[in-house]
Amino acid sequence: MRKEGLWDVVIAVKNSLKRLVDSTFGSGILLVCMLNAIQFSGHAQIRVGLQTDQTITNVLISPTEGAYVLTNATGDTIYRFRSDDAVSVSINGNNIIAKSAYGLNDTLSALYVLGSGNRPSFKMRPNSDMKDRVYYESVEIKGSNGRLNLINAVNMERYVSRVVQSEVGYGAADEYYKIQSIICRTYAIRNLERHALDGFDVCDHQHCQVYSGLKTPTEEVVKATAATAGLVMVSKENDLVLSAFHANCGGQTANSEDVWKESRSYLRSVKDTFCLKSRSATWEKQMPLSEFVTQLGFTSSTADSTWVWKHEDRKRHFSLNTDSVETTVMRRMLSLRSSFFDVVLNDGTISFAGKGYGHGVGLCQQGAMEMAQSGYTYSQILGYYYKGVSLIPINSLQPNK
Ligand SMILES: [Zn+2]
Ligand SMILES: [Zn+2]
Repeated sequence: MRKEGLWDVVIAVKNSLKRLVDSTFGSGILLVCMLNAIQFSGHAQIRVGLQTDQTITNVLISPTEGAYVLTNATGDTIYRFRSDDAVSVSINGNNIIAKSAYGLNDTLSALYVLGSGNRPSFKMRPNSDMKDRVYYESVEIKGSNGRLNLINAVNMERYVSRVVQSEVGYGAADEYYKIQSIICRTYAIRNLERHALDGFDVCDHQHCQVYSGLKTPTEEVVKATAATAGLVMVSKENDLVLSAFHANCGGQTANSEDVWKESRSYLRSVKDTFCLKSRSATWEKQMPLSEFVTQLGFTSSTADSTWVWKHEDRKRHFSLNTDSVETTVMRRMLSLRSSFFDVVLNDGTISFAGKGYGHGVGLCQQGAMEMAQSGYTYSQILGYYYKGVSLIPINSLQPNK
């Protein structure tokens, strides 16, 4: 099923980055190297676990483009799809039952739905009552404990375009789609081991990246993905970048260690005026002082009748008399849109004047969108939010000997 082990490529990347960065990218300035980037898109596949957050007991599969066959666990072709054909696959214990209107009726341990042609795709309806989804290339189906396990082996760039379409939606600038393509690809390659025990690379829901099969990428998304094909972000320490992003930073992004404890050289706090006109740049929330004190477990604040906690920059801690709590913890405990806010107490009511939406680390999506609309290039924008990173085509790297 798998034409080239992506993890092999990643090992090669990790082994050779130091040499490459030392010799070529030593300045730490964001450099974009497009050499060979397109070649990468031709063969690397990623294995995506489909509907892993659901219990799937049956699927209906029908090709939409290209020629499709079914093979069994030993690689024998057991069925060729005709036009307007559909195969239903259901679980029976640990076995799979595959049936069609044209005489297929087999019980198997594993089933491979393999497409050929320029851009093979198939429609799949899981569990009869769910929406039809369209996927490219092939799917591997195995059964265990009364459920079907589905793995879509798909070209990396097709995967990226799908994820970008889901994440960004419609109407963004081309440069922004390129940014999200690089973020998505870097994330995917960085996380290839995440589901190693499950037999695939990444899952298709928010645990990894949303790859729903519901939205077909538009031509502009496909073009933006292709324009950055194979490019990933690496830090000045030669690591694949943790490509964190959030909706709106409220005017200043956060240091990674202030939110997640771990410090990373490229996840530094930066001032950002580009996102300030967006809808999510500010928020407000009010609650009774008693609720505020109880939820945070404060003991010393009730004696005061009025106070103001105001600041220009992001603060790591909120302090009140002898009580102190991290702003990120406050965000979680009080269900706030961000951990960047002013707080005022007046007449027994706490009022938050908040900034931004999300954790605040890495790229600010609404700021980056505005930068893209204003004519900045994707490499300039990535370099603004991720400090000292380089863009590298991963297939240009060779293992260190
Ligand atoms: Zn996952
Ligand atoms: Zn911002």
